[in-house]
Amino acid sequence: MTHEKTIFEKIVAGEIPCHKIYEDDAVLAFLDINPSERGHTLVIPKQHCENIHDMPDEVAQKLITAVKKISGAVKKAVAADAIMLRMNNGAASGQMVFHAHMHIVPKFEGVFRKAGEHIKYVEGEAEKIASEISAHL
Ligand code: AMP
Repeated sequence: MTHEKTIFEKIVAGEIPCHKIYEDDAVLAFLDINPSERGHTLVIPKQHCENIHDMPDEVAQKLITAVKKISGAVKKAVAADAIMLRMNNGAASGQMVFHAHMHIVPKFEGVFRKAGEHIKYVEGEAEKIASEISAHL
């Protein structure tokens, strides 16, 4: 079935730029453009699936394996105290991009952010963080 390409499929196709962290035959990881915290990363399957419900098992396995590895690199790169994983599956859960993706969000002791709060990177900071995360892989 055809559908209108999502922004993440355009990133996979190289039609839209991203701050790339990791790529293999099955997945792509890059910084979230509107981060909840420094180092907020998205990991997506290259194969199009809308969310967890239409994701083939072998794709899900590759995605979670990559998420585990990249979570450790994010935690080290930004010296986070913890990592929150989040995956929205369906509009009612808050999914806005209908290409499956896992959020890796660093968490810090004593830092409480309001729901929906975002941080902004200063000039050059996103490139630096993306390369520091890559370096920890
Ligand atoms: P969700 O609500 O789970 O669908 O989250 C979609 C996420 O994609 C949001 O956190 C957005 O900030 C992020 N996002 C949207 N467009 C881009 C983009 N071009 N590059 C990186 N992240 C993006």
